[in-house]
Formats: sequence, C-alpha cells, structure tokens
Amino acid sequence: MLEQNYWLTSTEMPAANGTEFPERVDVAVIGSGFTGLSAARTLAQRGANVAVLESETIGWGASSRNGGMVLTGMKLGVNQLISMYGRERTQQMYAASLASIDCVEQIVRDEAIDCDFARCGHLEVACKQKHFDDYARQAEVIAREFNHTLRVVEKNDLSSEIGSTIYYGGMVDEISAGCNPARYVAGLARAAMNAGALVFEHARVQTVERESHNANAGWKLSTSRGSLWAHDVFVATSGYTGRATPALQRKIIPIGSFIITTEILPAALARELSPRNRMIYDSKNYLYYYRLTPDRRMLFGGRAAFFPENDQTIRQSAEILRRGMIDVYPQLADAKVDYVWGGTLDFAFDIMPHAGQLDGMYYAVGYAGHGVAMATYQGQKVAELIAFERNGEDHNASDPTRNAKPENPFVGIPFPGAPLGLYNGTPWFLPLAGAWYKFLDWVS
Ligand SMILES: Cc1cc2nc3c(=O)[nH]c(=O)nc-3n(C[C@H](O)[C@H](O)[C@H](O)COP(=O)(O)OP(=O)(O)OC[C@H]3O[C@@H](n4cnc5c(N)ncnc54)[C@H](O)[C@@H]3O)c2cc1C
Repeated sequence: MLEQNYWLTSTEMPAANGTEFPERVDVAVIGSGFTGLSAARTLAQRGANVAVLESETIGWGASSRNGGMVLTGMKLGVNQLISMYGRERTQQMYAASLASIDCVEQIVRDEAIDCDFARCGHLEVACKQKHFDDYARQAEVIAREFNHTLRVVEKNDLSSEIGSTIYYGGMVDEISAGCNPARYVAGLARAAMNAGALVFEHARVQTVERESHNANAGWKLSTSRGSLWAHDVFVATSGYTGRATPALQRKIIPIGSFIITTEILPAALARELSPRNRMIYDSKNYLYYYRLTPDRRMLFGGRAAFFPENDQTIRQSAEILRRGMIDVYPQLADAKVDYVWGGTLDFAFDIMPHAGQLDGMYYAVGYAGHGVAMATYQGQKVAELIAFERNGEDHNASDPTRNAKPENPFVGIPFPGAPLGLYNGTPWFLPLAGAWYKFLDWVS
C-alpha cells in the first residue's frame, strides 16, 4: 500500500508561470485550490492583474486530494437552514448550491478540462431507521421550498443502487456529479494562467499589512519568495488557513479526512457494488463517503481521525477505513488496498460556507466537505464582487450581468467564532469533538 494520493497518479500538474514577482498587482490570491484558481480565472478574464500565491505547489491542498464528489446541498439539513436564515435566504442558498454544479460543468466545458466529469447523481444511505424516516420529510420540504426533486429509495429497492445490505434505505439526487479532482484543479490552473493570471509556487504568504502605493490604499504581502503590493487580497486557504490571516484562522476549524483506494476491481464486481456509479455517503455525523474511480477502484473515505493528515493519522486511517469498507461491502474482504492519503477540511463553527470581507480582505471558506462545487462557485462569485467593487457598473460591457452587484447569499450572514473566544487557531478541542460526534451517532 502506498501512502500517496491516487488521483495524482493520473494527472500531470501544469508548470506555474510565475517567475519574478511584479512590483504591484490588482489582486493577490492566497492559495491555489478550486477557490483561488476559480477566482483568478474570473478576475483575469475581467482584465485584472492577478498573482496567485501558493505556499506549496498548484492544487496541493484539499482540491487535489478529495473524493471528487460534485455535490448538491450543504452540510446542514434544510429545516435547520430555514430556522437559521429564514425561507428566502435559504432558498437563495439552495439555488446557489445547485448553480455551483452548473458552474463546474460550464468551466469544464468552456476550458475543455479532461477530468471525467459526469452527472452520475449521489446516493445518501440511512444507517438507522429514523434517518431513513427523515428522508421522506426532507424530500417533501426540498420539493416544496426549492422545487428540486429527490428520490427516496426503500430498503427493498436499494439493491438497484448499491451492493450492500446494511442500510435502511436511501435518497438519490440525480443532479450531483463526479470528477477526478486532481485533473480538475490542474485544468483550472491552466485556465487561470491562459486567462492571464500569474501563479507562483513555493510562495508562502507570511504577513499581509495595509500599505499605500502611489496614494492607492492596498496591501503589502511578504512571502517566502519576496514581497509584492496588491490593491486587493483574496484569501482562499480553506483548511490550511494559517497565521498570515489570524482573524480568519480563528474562525476555521481544520479537520482531517482520509481516503483509501483498492486495486482495480473486476467489472462485474464494480457493477455489483455501485450499479449506477453514484457518489455515495452515509447518514452519520462521523460519516463514510465512497465511489468507484473511473478505472474501477473503490475509493472509500471518512473522518477516520479528526486531526489533520500526518504520517501517523494516515497510517491509522488506512486500517480503520479498510474495516469500514468491509463492513459496508463484505465482497471486498480480499481486495488489496493500493493507496491511502489524507487532507484537511475547513469547518466554520456554524458548519456553513462564508464569503465576503474580513479585516478588509476578501475570503471564501467553510465548505465542510462540500467544496468541489461550492469552492469553485464562491471563487467565481467573490471575484465578480471584487471586479464590481473595483470597476463599478460598466454599462458598456458586452455582458449585462456585470452591471449589477453580484448576489451571493453567503455574504453577510453572521460568521461566528468559537464560544467565549476559546480558540486561537490551535484546535485543542478536536479529540473532544471527535468523541462528541461518535456519541451523537450512537444516540441519534
Ligand atoms: C480527503 C478529502 C475528501 C474530500 N472530499 C470531498 C468531496 O468528495 N466532495 C466535495 O465537495 N468536497 C470534498 N472535500 C472538500 C474539498 O476538497 C474542499 O472543500 C476544497 O478543495 C477547498 O478548496 P480550496 O481551494 O478552498 O482549498 P484548498 O484546495 O485546500 O487550497 C488551499 C491552498 O492554500 C494554500 N495556502 C495555505 N496557506 C497559505 C499561505 N500562507 N500562503 C500561500 N498559500 C497558502 C495551501 O497550500 C493550499 O494549496 C474533501 C476534502 C478532503 C481533505
């Protein structure tokens, strides 16, 4: 078994085009995942000078390591969202979550990104009878409030969706998609560079300070490769947000998630495990998510350890996930596990995506494991906001949508920090949170 990200074996990351730092840029984007690259592409297309600053290499963070599930919806249930934000805002959020999948599809098509994007749908499976009973209620609310259809699948019919007998039923959303995330982030990077953005690797941003340049207010960014001045800064660092942006770091909890993939499976076995090739996840808090890869491996992931990835958490996770996979699919008892790896997710304290400005810098974070589509979308939307705020209304633009301030229901919602301010960016409470989620799965 290799401790290595399987997706990277099928992908060639493009070479970064940034060599010397320009003295000044219009926008500095920190982070080269889906959020940062999608933003850089949109900003460069709208004529801005953009530098993407990446501390490691292109797509190094969660964007190349995830399950490649391009999912509808958000982490929280719709009833909870309605009670937090009211019906109208929740409707806008749900519409945005559907639009985010169209956004990925559009970019993949426009930029001809070869990343196995397919609208295969997702299947949520119920680990308890009461979870299944709740599916019908959720489907009814979603049909009524958001005009979106989910299909509830009774236990007796579940074999048409999944070759496992341990679940109490399921719920299908046909709109979701799957992709190879490393190929997708590589394609996004090429698209951003083709649009004119400069991407700098091994450029860790160390400090960001307000500084004027020729009487223009803006920011001085000091990095491990030198410094540059930017009129605006977009922080797109997700679960890897660090000390360079301390206010944002205090609002984000970095949580590890881990994945194994098996050897290539015989075609008949792969069809038995997932007859419709769905993106699948279960109904627990401490959940498993799984799918077939395009070359017919079972990819099986979960929060096997709560701490972010390191040699120890990755190795422990491999065995925990293998046992979990065999609980779901006893047919895989003898399948060899070829790869294991981990990555870091970003959770806000209210488990919601957040975007807008903090301390004068733009940001989009908080995807909570639903970031393939939403990070791409938020990158684009916040970039549109920056372009709008820089240029104002542009009545001469050929695209009339540029004349209005872009709407984004995730901008302006309360962005809570830790209760009583008990968090400085070091997540000391993760073992407690892990135990708490396990307890919730036991009782609920
Ligand atoms: C194992 C795993 C499985 C997942 N599965 C799914 C899934 O199936 N479906 C789904 O929708 N979502 C999934 N997610 C979540 C999804 O991958 C993320 O939400 C999404 O990739 C976030 O993209 P991003 O661009 O915001 O951040 P990232 O891709 O994490 O990129 C942030 C980048 O910022 C850089 N950075 C940080 N600090 C600095 C600094 N100071 N200077 C310069 N650069 C810096 C990092 O090096 C990193 O490359 C998964 C995540 C993980 C870890």
